[in-house]
Amino acid sequence: MLFRSVADIFERIEGTTKRLEMTEYLVELIKNTPMNVVDKVAYLTTGTVYPPFMGVELGVADKLAMKAIATATATNEEAIQEDYVRSGDLGKTAENTLSKRRTMVLSQRPLTVENVYQTLEKICHAAGSGAQETKIRLLVGLLANATPREARYIIRVSLGKLRLGVADMTFLDALAVAYTGGKEAREVIERAYNFSSDIGYVAKTIAQGGLEAVTRAQISFGRPVKPQLAERLSSLEEILEKLGGKCSAEYKYDGLRIQAQVSPEKVILFSRRQEDVTTQFPDIVEAVSESVTAKEAVVDGECVPIDPDTGDLLPFQVVSQRRGRKYDIEKMIGEVPVVLCLFDVLYVNGEDLTMKPYPERRQKLAEVIKETERVRLAQSIISENPKEIEAFFDKAVQDGMEGLICKSLGSNSVYEAGKRGWAWIKWKRSYRSEMADTVDLVVVGGFAGHGKRAGTYGALLMAAYNPGDEGFDTVCKLGSGFTDEDLAKLPDILKPYLIQHQHPRVNALMKPDYWFIPAKVMELIGDEITLSPLHTCGFGNIRTGSGLAIRFPRLVKFREERAPEDATTVTEILDMYKRQLKQIST
Ligand code: ATP
Repeated sequence: MLFRSVADIFERIEGTTKRLEMTEYLVELIKNTPMNVVDKVAYLTTGTVYPPFMGVELGVADKLAMKAIATATATNEEAIQEDYVRSGDLGKTAENTLSKRRTMVLSQRPLTVENVYQTLEKICHAAGSGAQETKIRLLVGLLANATPREARYIIRVSLGKLRLGVADMTFLDALAVAYTGGKEAREVIERAYNFSSDIGYVAKTIAQGGLEAVTRAQISFGRPVKPQLAERLSSLEEILEKLGGKCSAEYKYDGLRIQAQVSPEKVILFSRRQEDVTTQFPDIVEAVSESVTAKEAVVDGECVPIDPDTGDLLPFQVVSQRRGRKYDIEKMIGEVPVVLCLFDVLYVNGEDLTMKPYPERRQKLAEVIKETERVRLAQSIISENPKEIEAFFDKAVQDGMEGLICKSLGSNSVYEAGKRGWAWIKWKRSYRSEMADTVDLVVVGGFAGHGKRAGTYGALLMAAYNPGDEGFDTVCKLGSGFTDEDLAKLPDILKPYLIQHQHPRVNALMKPDYWFIPAKVMELIGDEITLSPLHTCGFGNIRTGSGLAIRFPRLVKFREERAPEDATTVTEILDMYKRQLKQIST
């Protein structure tokens, strides 16, 4: 398959502000893609070479890319640098520079997707002392045969900055339409994706074996299952009503979500965002191998720091110090020991348990786990008695927990990978008035700062996630709570996401001075949720012509580890608003 046809579609996708059009272009791309390269096209379209959980990076920095463009076009580096200052995008600079060179090249061979992908793979794996030179040589080889437009996308992918804004979910929609003729199959395809976190694997499975193969797709070792997430409610009465009067109430541990995949060969640990964190927790790896009695298992739990002197569980912040530290892990193991509190099992000895109801899974978990000092089962009670659950809640809080997670025991309480559903409901001690709880929102626009804030942003336009259309609906302008230091670094943090026009996934009535690709998530709190004609969150849902807004929002913290699709949803904000009304009226 010629890379030219991929680049053509990329250009069309980039030029559209309409989501429907974006999906149509993707469908066209997939239909024109032969079966053997559909996985590669899937990765490239989402701006990667491998699924993110593999943690393999291209390791191409601006400087290296500039050198490659200079060498491939026999242009001096200063000229490249100047063009980059003007364009702000090395992809464009590559395109501009190649266009000028055009007439001089005689020996070009058209690039194929295979060429491009294999070369990018080699760039990923170049290591050792000559790695930089190898990467430059490989990139030069590609650019020498690329058209200017192809060069734009090759450079952007190499730098990890393709940013077409194609969400994985949009790609799944396109797969459904391309291979089954409609979006009805999307749910089945999405399930396979949530159980593998691998868009290329899903694309290849459906291309080779049709919908049937996707339906049969199971958990596979090495590919993380996306975690099931919890909804929230503020009163036990509502929780019990939602769960049919009875539930498993469990300690809500405040730590790091960990999925452990155990096989005779090895143990792999994945984070909530499907990163491989095995090397950060060698103590957990050892503890899990000791504690899991089955030959193979995939278990789900929370990793919590523990005070070595008292045995008390400590807050999450303590364990987060371990993340990202490569060298002093051994020291940290001594200083901050952790325990793994397990609450679910998804797979045991070849059997996928995700379609079994929760009570069955929990029983299986108890069967395959031998509790040790380092691995425990989450504390829980099964009850229909509100008094008993309240007492358990108080005990949990006394033990330093954030509250409880109440889980459905119903026959449909299957493991819903990647979904936030009503089968799990969190009940935290901070739920007194609705905005006592924070929300995670996505930055979609910015307003220029004046006076003291000249040179940075005066406020940011923030949006909630709307899974219905995978859009981002605005809910407030955030200008408070930033320290001077936060404000100074904002332009740099947001620069990579600046775009010229409103992003197709953003639904906004306000016109900010700047638009951003929805990417950065921030946690904030406000005084209350009010009706507002200026925002699109829940528009028309409560009152015609009005959406919902958060009044007096203040930044709590940047949430680097959050994807935009993990932000608080429009439905959650609508629910918070409704409960707020209820509180006022009682
Ligand atoms: P979320 O993870 O739901 O997106 P969040 O990071 O704000 O949101 P919380 O609102 O604190 O997390 O609650 C859900 C999280 O609680 C789960 O993702 C899981 O990591 C953790 N957790 C702790 N104990 C349990 C338990 N017994 N069952 C399920 N999850 C638990």
